[in-house]
Amino acid sequence: MAFVGIDLGGTQLRVAVADARGKLRTVVRHPTEAARGRRHVIKRITETVAEALDLDGTPARGVRALGIGLPGPVDPAAGLVISPANLPGFHNVPLNRILSRATGIPSFLHHDAHLAALGEHRRGAARGASELIYVTVSTGIGAGLILRGELYAGAHGIAGEIGHIVVQPGGPLCRCGNHGCVEAVASGTGIAHAARIAAPNSAGSALHRLSDPSPEDVVRAARAGDELATTILESAGSYLGIAMGTLVNLFNPELIVLGGSVLKAGRQLLAPMRRSMAASSWKAARRGLRIVRPALGGDAGLIGAVEFAQLRARHARSA
Ligand SMILES: [Zn+2]
Repeated sequence: MAFVGIDLGGTQLRVAVADARGKLRTVVRHPTEAARGRRHVIKRITETVAEALDLDGTPARGVRALGIGLPGPVDPAAGLVISPANLPGFHNVPLNRILSRATGIPSFLHHDAHLAALGEHRRGAARGASELIYVTVSTGIGAGLILRGELYAGAHGIAGEIGHIVVQPGGPLCRCGNHGCVEAVASGTGIAHAARIAAPNSAGSALHRLSDPSPEDVVRAARAGDELATTILESAGSYLGIAMGTLVNLFNPELIVLGGSVLKAGRQLLAPMRRSMAASSWKAARRGLRIVRPALGGDAGLIGAVEFAQLRARHARSA
């Protein structure tokens, strides 16, 4: 029997058909066209599943289960998409039921960062680990928790929302409505925001000339020795370290898989992050802790979606 895995992002939709061992055989990708609304996106998902199965030469009845990862908040146990910021029109959508009916394949959704954690745990950098946290720092900051070797989603699928740990009370407004969340000060969005605020008053900085500096501009300027850009990355790294230290104290992980586009900033972000993580966690909780880079890159979520489909299929069989 085959399995289908889907990674649904605000910009890109990827559908994979995998064999019974979880190896990806066929992958199809299309733009999500999220702005065109819920009905359109759901139609695109079902059409892309049909296209991938056709290319793979597998009929829908030959697929045991379908796993789909998408941005939170989602409620995996209820099969509900709550209200992802970058998927307009998705409010309390019973996506498991809709996809199961439309494709004829039992369908199961989960948070994309959690599925990326599962992917890295089953097939990537975290194989064999029992207590691990996957953290991704890009436009936003997300995390997935694997505890006692199993995905941990919390009561309603919201566990692991590290991005909304408040590290600077009263700081910049976050998209969740609170102020000073780590996502608002240390993600790509947070770094760009800090540059936008500080650049007009820093005539000596390379960022001063840019009307709308991007996180990449900040990294580039910092590499060239720009003082303001260096300060912005140090500050972002320090705040990220506070959130990571909090996780370490809470979960005492053996492994943290740390990825995402913002880490391309390298040492200028990572060194202050490590210092601040040490300053905000108990030494005993860090004993033996390893921090590694992801091994699956952009495929972690897709591979995790296939693994999740397999998990649910096994669960259904044993229930
Ligand atoms: Zn927030």
